[in-house]
Amino acid sequence: MISIDTVYIDGAFVTPHGTERFDLFNPATEEVIGSVRLADADDVRLAIAAAKRAFPAFSRTTVAERIALLRRMHDAVMARADDLLEAVVTEYGAPFARAHWMTAHAADVFTGAIDALEHYEFTRRMGTATVTMQPVGVTGLITPWNSNAGFICGKLAMAIAAGCTAVIKPSEMSAWQTRIVTEALHEAGAPAGVFNIVTGRGDVVGAGIVGSPDVAKISFTGSTIVGKGIVRAAADTLKRVTLELGGKSPTVILDDADFDSAVPMALAAGFMNSGQACIAGTRILVPRARLAEFETKAAALVEAAVSGDPLRADTTIGPMVSRRQWERVQGYIGKGIAEGARLLAGGEGRPDGYERGWLVKPTLFTDVRNDMSIAREEIFGPVLSIIAYEDEEQAIAIANDTPYGLQAYVISADTQRALRVASRIDAGRVAINGMSHEPKAPFGGFKQSGLGREYGVMGLEAYLEAKAVLSSPEAVE
Ligand code: NAD
Repeated sequence: MISIDTVYIDGAFVTPHGTERFDLFNPATEEVIGSVRLADADDVRLAIAAAKRAFPAFSRTTVAERIALLRRMHDAVMARADDLLEAVVTEYGAPFARAHWMTAHAADVFTGAIDALEHYEFTRRMGTATVTMQPVGVTGLITPWNSNAGFICGKLAMAIAAGCTAVIKPSEMSAWQTRIVTEALHEAGAPAGVFNIVTGRGDVVGAGIVGSPDVAKISFTGSTIVGKGIVRAAADTLKRVTLELGGKSPTVILDDADFDSAVPMALAAGFMNSGQACIAGTRILVPRARLAEFETKAAALVEAAVSGDPLRADTTIGPMVSRRQWERVQGYIGKGIAEGARLLAGGEGRPDGYERGWLVKPTLFTDVRNDMSIAREEIFGPVLSIIAYEDEEQAIAIANDTPYGLQAYVISADTQRALRVASRIDAGRVAINGMSHEPKAPFGGFKQSGLGREYGVMGLEAYLEAKAVLSSPEAVE
């Protein structure tokens, strides 16, 4: 049994004031695998006070000193890769290939922050002014359960690159990963208080950070509904806010696409992270003239996808993270059927051979209209919708007819044509013919998918304030 009994405040693992415990589960078996003692409002106050004390000295560190710290953090997380892999597979249910990617990503974000820092000019002349970019202050970093370790590291890396200090509130559901990452980051030897990690409930610990007048900026990744509440709560102190929220990403298959590659690409984008990904391509837009061909090929591949125990080598889709999430996904499958969409593969219930575990049958609907709830709302599970379109104009209109705008995919035999279509899609990222990741490029959402950008130089600037120093000719004399 895993027992996590401390929080990390002011450079030390300490017993929290909070006494409530939260059970940790193995979602593949539904067994309790341990528990975490949660922080409370007093712990939040101590963590913010520590970050505030550490800020003046840390904000004056040199770029070289911060690069050295980020390198040590990268190496320390890499050194715990095997432990992290075990936690990601067991507590989150990610199949091995995905868990490997998630673990490597948690370390890679430090390299990305170093790259941004190495290329950034903190001081620039603008007309007669000297403009300096200064760290914004104490930051509050709030992360979701999917890819928790990656988000903790990604946000912290940029905060540190900028010279900010941080109070991190990770999801309580992935406390085991958090523990391993915290131990690794501690080993890297940051000055006490530079980062503090307090796992607890969102409405207690998260809200405490967002409400504090001593926190200058919030970077939040999570659901759109909680993100909107954070903007409202942050308004009182006019905090800087970066939000990475939900999505309902379109995959636009153009009529010239080679379906032998387009179908697996579209399904990989949709079933990414067992469907529990903000950037999952859940609306597959297919030209009506080639609909039957797409349906036949896609249904065969979805039937062949293996949803099961993440420890098995042939598993491609793991369990949902919690019973609540499993019930929610089942509810959407039922809703899709009730709204008149046609099931091509999958459906309600667990995959054959499983009576336990929060496993979902990989599910593919067709005859979906873009106004159905399965096409409008984020399901966060392996449930995909095929929507037919008549021509390119209509495909672009359907792609953009969503409150979200995080990611889109365009698949075509003609790259120039795909680029033209991509330029008209309202999304923060558009991937053409695949799912490549570019850590130097900004990541974030249009519309209700977010506010601001993470990663690369734009991600660094999200932790900085601009100060223009002007000297009049008289003052110079
Ligand atoms: P969530 O919004 O329920 O929780 C996210 C975090 O916010 C958790 O740590 C939670 O405890 C905390 N929280 C809850 N209430 C709070 C409050 N009142 N004040 C402050 N913090 C509070 O999201 P989740 O279920 O953990 O994660 C899934 C969601 O995250 C999905 O909607 C998904 O699309 C989104 N997501 C977005 C991205 C992105 O980069 N855009 C990436 C991953 C996940």
